Amino acid sequence: MKTIFEKSTGVDGVGIADVKLGDFLPHDLVREGDIGLPQLSELDVMRHYKELSDRNFCIEKGFYPLGSCTMKYNPKVNELLASLEGFANLHPMQSDEDSQGALELMFNLQEALKKITGMDAVTLQPAAGAHGELTGMMIIKKYFETKGETNRTKVIVPDSAHGTNPASAKMCGFEIVEVKSNSKGQVDINALKELLDENVAGIMMTNPNTLGIFEENVLEISKLMHENGSLLYYDGANFNAVMGWTNPALMGFDVVHLNLHKTFATPHGGGGPGAGPVCVAEHLKEYLPVPVIDYADSKYFRNYDIKHSIGKVRSFYGNFGVLVRAYAYILMMGDNLKLASADAVLNANYLKEKLKGVYDLPYDVPCMHEFVLSGEKQHHQGVSTLGIAKRLMDYNCHPPTVYFPLIVHEALMIEPTESESKEVLDNFADIMLKIAKEIEENPEEVLKSPQKTPIKRVDETLAARKPDLVFRG
Ligand SMILES: *Cc1c(COP(=O)(O)O)cnc(C)c1O
Repeated sequence: MKTIFEKSTGVDGVGIADVKLGDFLPHDLVREGDIGLPQLSELDVMRHYKELSDRNFCIEKGFYPLGSCTMKYNPKVNELLASLEGFANLHPMQSDEDSQGALELMFNLQEALKKITGMDAVTLQPAAGAHGELTGMMIIKKYFETKGETNRTKVIVPDSAHGTNPASAKMCGFEIVEVKSNSKGQVDINALKELLDENVAGIMMTNPNTLGIFEENVLEISKLMHENGSLLYYDGANFNAVMGWTNPALMGFDVVHLNLHKTFATPHGGGGPGAGPVCVAEHLKEYLPVPVIDYADSKYFRNYDIKHSIGKVRSFYGNFGVLVRAYAYILMMGDNLKLASADAVLNANYLKEKLKGVYDLPYDVPCMHEFVLSGEKQHHQGVSTLGIAKRLMDYNCHPPTVYFPLIVHEALMIEPTESESKEVLDNFADIMLKIAKEIEENPEEVLKSPQKTPIKRVDETLAARKPDLVFRG
């Protein structure tokens, strides 16, 4: 496919070209040469972008079992609501008085997230999960600084953790200490005990963890951590198994972030926009970023009066459109959020049972919202997990997450979500079993995939080591 620059006909199409910006701007800020934008008619521009979008894979095109990413269906009514004029065109500098509707929505969303997580206060500012983690770790850091416990410089992270966990703690200036998982794929309590001392600020945990397994010792872990004077951070990016069944407060956590763009049906991919609200227990309330949305004297307002606030973590008040979508989804679902979690867990277990045996299942226990297979057997037969992922694309399935979590060799991390029907799951299972058979019989043929995608097999090492991203027209 040609780039839009190569398609340029040189004939003025959609034009802003005649506006002489020099008439309005200071002369020293005005570009001198030709900007070199492509020139096409409006129709040609539309065709170009339609073709590009057709090449894209999305949940509306097919099954998207990308583990840890929760690619559930995003109801279109959420889009409609987010594009209502009063929401979409509201300027963030408008006064509280002029923004009562938007502030009420944000306040109500904070209340809903408090209920869902069991926590006591919320900030909606962080723009992504990793940003929420950073915010949460900044809160923990400030908490210990305020208490004069500056010796607490270490953060414990399980070896199964999402890479953003150690990265966020490190960015906050903490030293990372890894704790191993045991043979059940859970935090090894004895290994954890050995790591505890007066320098430990906290632990970052994901529950269910990235293997899709519920940490059954979580209460003992939170007791151990609190007895040590440390705090517990809950990575709630994958909340899809948890909604309404339990919550991080009951498990003893002090700080939680949620990914609205995973669990709460906001479209994501391609880098955003998202939202990673952070929910905290009472003792951390005074450390939240400013402003939080409050209500008093029959008015909603942006509250900047937070005693030990870590400051602002984002311009304005977060990705507002994402907040509208999540709020709409939560209202629409109501108590059925609990049913969504139940169905997500049921779907994952159903697929797991259909695939195990043909693919290795390193941790053969009931899973939560996702499960992790190993393609080790297929690797020995000549096709690695990467090859299986590529082959799936020829069957119009998005590949699962591969090579994560790091503690499983040749990992295939599968998360079907609650959105999918039994027919879709059966079809995917049939395809996976077929691919296993193809690998047994003719691995060379499988290695030629993908054949049906716009871009065939690429040299991934070359792409990573020597990316060539410059257009030379
Ligand atoms: C997706 C994810 C994150 C990071 O969220 P982003 O919005 O991509 O920054 C963190 N932890 C887990 C377990 C995740 O799945």
